[in-house]
Amino acid sequence: MPEPTTAQPLADLSTEELARFRDEQQAAYDGLRDQGLKLDLTRGKPSTAQLDLSDRLLTLPDGTRDDDGVDVRNYGGLAGIRQIREMFADLLWVEPEQVVAGGNSSLVLMREVITDLWLKGGVDSERPWSQEERVTFICPVPGYDRHFTLLSWFGIDTVTVPMNEDGPDADAVADLVAKDPSIKGMWVVPTYSNPTGSIVSQEIAARLASMETAAPDFKILWDNAYAFHHLTEEEAKSADILTLAAASGHPHRAIMFASTSKITYAGAGVAFLAGSTETVAWYTGHLGKGAIGPDKVNQLRHVQFFGSPQGVRDHMRKHRGLIAPKFAVVEEVLSDRLGGLGVARWTRPSGGYFVSLDVLPGTAARVIGLAKDAGVALTPAGAAFPGGHDPDDTNIRLAPTFPELPEVRAAMEAVATCVLLAAAEHLVAAS
Ligand code: PLP
Repeated sequence: MPEPTTAQPLADLSTEELARFRDEQQAAYDGLRDQGLKLDLTRGKPSTAQLDLSDRLLTLPDGTRDDDGVDVRNYGGLAGIRQIREMFADLLWVEPEQVVAGGNSSLVLMREVITDLWLKGGVDSERPWSQEERVTFICPVPGYDRHFTLLSWFGIDTVTVPMNEDGPDADAVADLVAKDPSIKGMWVVPTYSNPTGSIVSQEIAARLASMETAAPDFKILWDNAYAFHHLTEEEAKSADILTLAAASGHPHRAIMFASTSKITYAGAGVAFLAGSTETVAWYTGHLGKGAIGPDKVNQLRHVQFFGSPQGVRDHMRKHRGLIAPKFAVVEEVLSDRLGGLGVARWTRPSGGYFVSLDVLPGTAARVIGLAKDAGVALTPAGAAFPGGHDPDDTNIRLAPTFPELPEVRAAMEAVATCVLLAAAEHLVAAS
C-alpha cells in the first residue's frame, strides 16, 4: 500500500469544504461522461502483443515424435509427454512423476479434482465427499471468483479468511480446520495471487502444510496460475508445498495447478496438475474413464518452443516488458490522484495480473456503477468474494494487462474520478 503523500485527508475537511470538493468531482465526472469513453479493465487476459510473443508455436512442432519416439499425433500418454512434465516439474520444484500435463485449462483440472473428490473421495478419504453431511471450504479473500463459483456449483459451503500480503491468515485457518471436520479444503493462489498479488511465505506454507485438521482428507488446492509472472527483477519463488506437506506427514494434502495460459496462448496452452504419486495415480485413474490421452501435439510444440525451463523464464521476461509499464501507469495515476486523501488503498504487485483497490467502505459498488455510466467497465462489485458479496463493499479488482497503455491511463484517470466522487458523496452524507 502506498505511503500517504502530503495531501489532506478528505475526512479532515469541513462540511463546506467537503461539499465544494464533491461539486468539483461531480463536474469532473460530468466531463468524463461527455467523453463517451469505451474502456474495459475487467479482463485478466493477455493482450494481443503478449499473444504475438508465442506465434512461433503456429509453425511447430517440428516433426511428430517426442524424444521417446512417441508419435504425438496418436492416442495415449494420459499423463502427458515426458519432456513437458520434466520441464514444468523443474519449474514447479516437483518431481516429473508428480506431474500430469493435460489440456489447455488448469481450471478444468480443478473442476475434475473436485468432481473426483465428490464422487469417489480422495486417496485419504473415508468416503466420497458427496456422502458427507456437509462440505466446507476455506476461501482466502479477496480471491478468484471462479474458485468460488465452482464451490457453489457443488453446494460446498464457504468460510472466508483474510488474504494477507504473506498469504492466508494462518491462525484463522488453523483454528477453523482444527475443530470442524466438515472443512475439507481451501484455495490458495500462492504466487502473485488474484487479485491482491500476495506471495505466500515459506512460513505460512509450512503452517498450512503441517496444521492439524479435523478432516483426515483435508486438501489444499494450490492454484499456482501466476508462478512465473514476475513484474520486477526480484522473481518470487513459490513455496514448495508438496515437499512441506509430505515432510509433515500429509503427503496427499496439497494438489498443485498451473498452466501456460498466460505464458503462451490463453486458449491453447498446456495445464498441469501436481501431487503425490498416489494423487497422480488417483487422478489419472479417473481421467482414463473419459480420455485416451491429451493433445500431445500441443505439448510437443510447447517443449520445442521453450527448449528448456530457462526458456520459459526468458519468455516471461518478454511478457514483463509489455505489461510492467501498464502496472506502472496504474500506480502512477492512483498515487497522483488518490494518495494521501484517505479514501483508497491499493496493492503494488510484483507479479501477476491484478491490482486490488480498496475504496472507502460502502462505496465500491457506487464507484463501479459510476464508472460503468461513464463507459469504463470494472469487475462487478463483490466479485472477489464467495457469493459475490463483499461485506464491506470496499474491494475493486483492476486488470490492466489487456488494454493498450493509453487506454489503461484513460481508464485509471476515470476510475480515480469515480473513487473521489463516491467518497465525497459518502462523506457529505455522513457529515
Ligand atoms: N487460476 C487463477 C487464480 C486465475 O486467475 C486464472 C485465470 O484468470 C485461472 C486459474 C485460469 O487458468 P487456466 O487458463 O489455466 O484455466
